[in-house]
Amino acid sequence: MGTDLIPESSERHTNVATNTFRPRHDWTLLKQGAEARVWKIRDSKYNGVDNDNGVNTVSICKERFAKKYRHPVLDARLTKQRCRMEARLLGKCKEKGINVPAVLQVDSNFSDATSLIYLEFIDGPTVRDYLEEVLLPQLEVEGKNDTIVCQDALCQIAEEIGKTISNLHEAGMVHGDLTTSNIMLQNVANISIHGPNIVFIDFGLAKNTTAIEERAVDLYVLERALQSTHPTLPPSFYESLLSAYVGLIHQNDASNDGTQKTKPLSKHFQPDILLRLEKVRQRGRKRECFG
Ligand code: AMP
Repeated sequence: MGTDLIPESSERHTNVATNTFRPRHDWTLLKQGAEARVWKIRDSKYNGVDNDNGVNTVSICKERFAKKYRHPVLDARLTKQRCRMEARLLGKCKEKGINVPAVLQVDSNFSDATSLIYLEFIDGPTVRDYLEEVLLPQLEVEGKNDTIVCQDALCQIAEEIGKTISNLHEAGMVHGDLTTSNIMLQNVANISIHGPNIVFIDFGLAKNTTAIEERAVDLYVLERALQSTHPTLPPSFYESLLSAYVGLIHQNDASNDGTQKTKPLSKHFQPDILLRLEKVRQRGRKRECFG
């Protein structure tokens, strides 16, 4: 991994006496979650060397911290595993041309269960914020009907998300936590010229799998997240997303020699994934009714 991209020497954020993590004073806390904190690092130096004209470089440090409710040894092992798995899957995405932040470094050599993953900073809003703060208020003011809306930005974003999920699935991975907070929009200023530039983040629950069930659950998790987070979103958003997903997905086939091959969309595959999604929905409804 590109350790030369690390913004600062690792000693700078370590309490040397106790070998525990200590964020630098100039790091900004972006997000505090139940499992992790996300820090923004702005730095005019690469490895202590001034970069071009002191232009700031920005990266992210995702800190998975110790959980008090877990056995410390188990906690340290799990946190380290998650962090390494996230880095591995992000690397695989990059190889396959799926837009995710570049992994700059992983650091889990602390005496407690802390694990750090340094990532490229994505300059832009989450899809959640962009929908809630920009597109949906616009929609309300303009009173556009659903069909017209689906021809513009909203529809383009939906289609890009659908295509990215299909590329991810086709590459043999599922995300595991698809929500609009885990999808970001890069170069949002140029969205009307170049279309949306979708970036998937947070691969903490992602895994390597080609199972149709896991793919259907991935889609269902996003469907539910859309319904609960964006109740005013037109139904055409998810419909466009699904069409783009189904339109692109290729069937993964194990050939006779045991290697995995992809072949273009089979006519039978579309109903396969949609049928499985419907089954997952039915299970979800049953759980809601009967607990
Ligand atoms: P996560 O814990 O990975 O879901 O990240 C939590 C939040 O931190 C996201 O919703 C983003 O607002 C922000 N974030 C995470 N990764 C990045 C990144 N690579 N670039 C910019 N912001 C990020």
